[in-house]
Amino acid sequence: MKGIFVIADGLGGRPTDLNGNTCLEAAETPYLDALATRGALGLVDPIGPGIRPGSDTAHLSLLGYDPFKVYTGRGVFECLGMGMDVQAGDICFRANFASVESSAEGLRLLDRRAGRISEGQNELEDALRALSVPGAEIEFLASTQHRGALRIRGEGLSRFIGETDPHEVGTVLLASRPTQDVPGADKTADIVNQMTQQSFEILRDLPLNKKRVAAGQLPANVLLVRGAANCPVLPSIESVIGARGAVIAGGALYRGVAEACGMDYIPVQGATGGLDTNIKAKAAAILKTLEDYDYVFCHLKGTDNAGHDKNAADKKAFIERMDSELFKVLIERVDWGRTHLAFTGDHCTPIDYGDHTVDPVPVLFVGPNIPRDPGTTFGERVAGQGGLGRFSGRVLPMLLGYCNWAPKFGS
Ligand code: ZN
Ligand code: ZN
Repeated sequence: MKGIFVIADGLGGRPTDLNGNTCLEAAETPYLDALATRGALGLVDPIGPGIRPGSDTAHLSLLGYDPFKVYTGRGVFECLGMGMDVQAGDICFRANFASVESSAEGLRLLDRRAGRISEGQNELEDALRALSVPGAEIEFLASTQHRGALRIRGEGLSRFIGETDPHEVGTVLLASRPTQDVPGADKTADIVNQMTQQSFEILRDLPLNKKRVAAGQLPANVLLVRGAANCPVLPSIESVIGARGAVIAGGALYRGVAEACGMDYIPVQGATGGLDTNIKAKAAAILKTLEDYDYVFCHLKGTDNAGHDKNAADKKAFIERMDSELFKVLIERVDWGRTHLAFTGDHCTPIDYGDHTVDPVPVLFVGPNIPRDPGTTFGERVAGQGGLGRFSGRVLPMLLGYCNWAPKFGS
């Protein structure tokens, strides 16, 4: 038996999305509706009722972990998702290029995203290889636009330190400080502060930045860090359930979470982690990957991006594109006699609110071991009447359980 687990980030919505319908309900989705007709529906609270999920914690929960026990922060997933080697004791951060100017009080923030820089990041990354703080080995990798990931390796470091991003333009960068009185926090905060100052000294006179300023653009002249995290202790899904899995995802965070859970990463050309992602290529990669693995986890991010942008048309269009470019292909090409599929979101990102909410998310299971329920479309209200009822997290263990992979608890 093979398993396919698809998450559309921020899939769920509210009746305020589009004239009384959610984007999912309003979207024309004949293939999802066909799957709903064959399968069973329900509502899932990604972490638990009343808990407003982040994407990282929600994914951990849907994959079968208790985020309250294992979550250490986002930075580590960003680093893993960039393909960095992360070991016990390393401290990882989300990092981003920003624009600052020198002032008597310190480095004053001009823009948190360095004018949403879209080219030349490799030059910045190369220059930052010169970062050198005694007692620490520092690695930075740029990802998309202003974003990147930073790893600090050294003896006796702690993740209990604050960020350097003041979040408010016109204010000076924050000095990182210990957030708990624990060994290593002072030392780690000190390393981060030295690194921040050094990043400014390295980047400010870079030819790229001189060119940007001459062209009227903001310079990318400092590195801000947040989300300090160390490597979480996660028993792999394979060690717990026995099934071998792989991840297909454009966004580094999702690749990072899945790799931390023991999945192999399958790169896909054109997978951008955005609305423009190549969904057909992802569908083809799912089919190919299933030849070698027990299950595949595929993440799509466009739904959440459109939700944050409060753009109902984009969210609906992305759902329709998933329907015709992914679910159509799966219906036609998967061996449904021996394959189970689960499809859900990691939280709702309603249009009106523009951010993640506590609402449960519709979930769909299809496969030979799954009893059909009466639902014939896939949407929030129909899913609320589905045979799966309402449950919390653990969608992947459920899916693998239908594939007969679950270990028995007790005798
Ligand atoms: Zn999410
Ligand atoms: Zn989001």
